[in-house]
Amino acid sequence: MDFPAALKQLIQQPQNVAIFSHRNPDGDAIGSSLAMLHYLEQYGHTVHVLFPSEFPEEFEALPGAEDILVWDIHTEESKHVLRSKNLFIFLDFNALNRIDKMGDFVRDLPGKRIMIDHHLYPDQIADYMFSEPEASSTCELVYRFITGIGDGQKVNPTVGKCIFTGLVTDTGSFRHATNANVYRIAADLVERGVDDTGVQDMIFNSQKEKNLRLLGHCLVNRMEYMPEYRTALIWLSKKDYELFNIQRGDTEGIVNYLLSIKDVRLAAFIHNQPTVVKLSLRSKGDLDVQDICKKHFNGGGHKNAAGAYSHDSLKSTIQKFKDLLPLYKEPLLRKN
Ligand code: 5GP
Ligand code: MN
Repeated sequence: MDFPAALKQLIQQPQNVAIFSHRNPDGDAIGSSLAMLHYLEQYGHTVHVLFPSEFPEEFEALPGAEDILVWDIHTEESKHVLRSKNLFIFLDFNALNRIDKMGDFVRDLPGKRIMIDHHLYPDQIADYMFSEPEASSTCELVYRFITGIGDGQKVNPTVGKCIFTGLVTDTGSFRHATNANVYRIAADLVERGVDDTGVQDMIFNSQKEKNLRLLGHCLVNRMEYMPEYRTALIWLSKKDYELFNIQRGDTEGIVNYLLSIKDVRLAAFIHNQPTVVKLSLRSKGDLDVQDICKKHFNGGGHKNAAGAYSHDSLKSTIQKFKDLLPLYKEPLLRKN
């Protein structure tokens, strides 16, 4: 990472800062945003964190989560706050359409912009772009940003807890997308006083009974396995959403269970959310699901984890997905 003098000055002198992350914020989006907030506040900046939509309940336990502005809910207040800002920080996304209408609003506001992200193919949306698709998580990059600028001592247990959250969620508890940095950073954070098992507890042992019943329903009644394409699929209908009273965050992580089938290379979770059909794809090995999402569903993400939205019906989205499989037969069936 490179830190021009003008950027250092921007960070080390109080500004009016807005931190953004993407729609349906996950642990990395929330963790990186709150880590950046608690870091910048040590320099006396006035900081607000804004998300386009709500975040899963388990992250309400993170320090600062209670003050996050959600554009869908606090639209007027968000606009008011944003008009006073002169520094905009984009975390865990790399195209303004990932923050929906808020992106259109922010596009025209005067001020400097910093982007820190690990998704493929960034748009040129910032004056200072830190884009590293090889990084495990935006939290890894935020840690390297803070230490790289020479502020390692500002990674206190509060900043550390937020960073650790994104490391854990984006690597599936250190099971994928890891690199040597991840373990070094995790060790450093624990030495600085982060309660690592406490964070894991916050994320994974905070489910409601209905989440387990929903998972059971998905695995027993909604799972399809297509061994000829080494592909597994779970789908959920609008009716399922009503039956299980599915709320934000309740379907997080379900797709990963499909990857636990030994021969599966491609996992899909296709669900009819109240207003739109959402796809989540995951892969093992060489198969690039970002490419599938981008080419066929106008989505994006990473090589092994990507997503998209479809405005077709659930049925035709599932059919479209299945019809694509023969196109990917070679990478799906390749021995690796
Ligand atoms: P998930 O399937 O958990 O929603 O997302 C997996 C990854 O793909 C995340 O890194 C997420 O940011 C990205 N992603 C999900 N949906 C979209 C989308 O509609 N467009 C783009 N560009 N990326 C997405
Ligand atoms: Mn991320």
